Amino acid sequence: MPRSLLGLPKAHLHVHLEGTIRPATLVDIAARHGVAAPLGAQDGARYAFRDLASFFVDYQRVRDCLNDADDFRRIAYELCQDEAAQGVRYAEVTFSPAYHALRLGDWDMPVATILEGFAQGESDFGIKCRLILDHSRRRSYELAEQTLAAAVRFRDRGVIGLGLGGPEADYPPEPFAPLLDDATLAQIARASVGSSYLDNSAKQSIAGEIDEWLAAEGEGFEPSRGFDSPNPLSRRAH
Ligand SMILES: [Zn+2]
Repeated sequence: MPRSLLGLPKAHLHVHLEGTIRPATLVDIAARHGVAAPLGAQDGARYAFRDLASFFVDYQRVRDCLNDADDFRRIAYELCQDEAAQGVRYAEVTFSPAYHALRLGDWDMPVATILEGFAQGESDFGIKCRLILDHSRRRSYELAEQTLAAAVRFRDRGVIGLGLGGPEADYPPEPFAPLLDDATLAQIARASVGSSYLDNSAKQSIAGEIDEWLAAEGEGFEPSRGFDSPNPLSRRAH
């Protein structure tokens, strides 16, 4: 009988919060606010996209459905439930607060309520989720500073990193070098792709759980490329 890898303890190191919303939840939230859910989610069963461009259009429309504390708290909590069901013990979740701050006139409500959802999810499902606040390099330095300020305000409640997203070729990172120095001084990690996995205690704990799983259920388990180093966690995922 094939063994399921669902039970294998995992760390999810790069996931965008609004990309994890259950279609049925999105339809529900949109209806509550009297707005139309993106076309790709309207059957409530799964998302569908024609191409990358339509994906980005829909992704923005997904974000536009989120309006109040219940919305953000709910999607964070459901992320915990869905990730835990896949064996994930620790996740680093990316979220861009500036987009919602400009829409809603509030930097803190979305971040605060997402962290509340994570806390409830940790209590109910045993998964630890930490938040990376992302700044799109297409946007202004001032918004980047405000993103860092938000990260510092929530540093002790679950925000661990500052990300610099967006198109790399057209928007090189150099202009943001002073900001990244400020982040380091404020004990906010730089969370670029490939340098994730920021919580050392979670790392140690999951390494132990993976060893236990392999000892108990890994007989005959063929090491894949993810396990070809003595310490599987030395590999970086993105
Ligand atoms: Zn990403």
